[in-house]
Amino acid sequence: MAAQKTQDYYAVLGVSRNADEKAIKSAYRKLARKYHPDVNPNDPSAEARFKEASQAYEVLSDPEKRKLYDQFGHNWEAVQNFGGQPGGGGVDFEGMGGAGFGSIFEHLMQNFGAGGAESRPRGIEPRDVEKEVQLTLEEIDSGTTRKLRYQVQDACKSCDGSGQIRVQKPRTCPGCGGSGRSKGLLGMQTACPECRGTGQVTLETCPTCRGARTMANDRTVEVKIPAGISEGKRLRVPSGGAKGANGRAGDLYVIIREAPHPRFKRIGDDLETEVPVAYHRAALGGEIKVPTLRSTVTMKIPSCSQNGQVFRLSQQGISKLNGGRGNLLVKLVVEVPKSLSDEQRAALQALAKVMEVDLHA
Ligand SMILES: [Zn+2]
Ligand SMILES: [Zn+2]
Repeated sequence: MAAQKTQDYYAVLGVSRNADEKAIKSAYRKLARKYHPDVNPNDPSAEARFKEASQAYEVLSDPEKRKLYDQFGHNWEAVQNFGGQPGGGGVDFEGMGGAGFGSIFEHLMQNFGAGGAESRPRGIEPRDVEKEVQLTLEEIDSGTTRKLRYQVQDACKSCDGSGQIRVQKPRTCPGCGGSGRSKGLLGMQTACPECRGTGQVTLETCPTCRGARTMANDRTVEVKIPAGISEGKRLRVPSGGAKGANGRAGDLYVIIREAPHPRFKRIGDDLETEVPVAYHRAALGGEIKVPTLRSTVTMKIPSCSQNGQVFRLSQQGISKLNGGRGNLLVKLVVEVPKSLSDEQRAALQALAKVMEVDLHA
């Protein structure tokens, strides 16, 4: 249709040179509906008008292109190409009532024959999912695997996550009662948005998901948790998330939560623990038993060890992510006997005497 290209685009759409976007849009829609090849089979002149209108709309609906067209007429494309901008082929159709020119065009092409021009909502995208996992310090120390069972909201397969299915037999549009028109803003008559002015619809609420677009599905994954992981860390499980309309799944993120331990406090890769030690043992020094995460070890303390004094046992802490282990910090809690035998009392009295404590003070 090269000959048509010389036609003035404003004249093609039947709008004035200062028509706004809305006027251009509605003029184009009207023409597109009227001259669409599916509505006018075997009518080359209708087809030509349709192409002409599409071409005019392509330019006039784009503020940049329209400006160039106003300035340079049909040479605008050449000017644009010289300017180094991508011209011609890649046309970005935006801003047409949310549906986009592309989809309206598509549906005009696909559905005029079938009786419906309305388009299904876009299917939903794959989504990531987060799950928390609580681990004991023992599990973190050794590393572990966890089987996770959870639910994801996958895109409904019946409707590709659009919430609607296309039925064979068109029915009267419930939005306009078949007239194809609806009252827009300021009482102006506009094309019914539900049926795009055709008066008929071929979309129905998806019976599988009842329009919710997603279906709850159970998922089970086994997650390997490396030794040395810590609170708040995230492990990614590819494709463990919810499926989108395209069948691709998002990822699962496993968030590590550390359960409090009755005996140990974690400080980075080190562990801290308090160990009770009898008064006489602290004073005399010697060996004490210290529980670790994995077993119990014997630790030597010097004489005159103090209440609250901290000793460091290297390699007895928690596993590090990249190998080795941290330290165990042992804090002494000196204990006074809760009761005394006669023998013990006598010994302490003797000690007291030696230490020159006045018993009768
Ligand atoms: Zn309608
Ligand atoms: Zn569905």
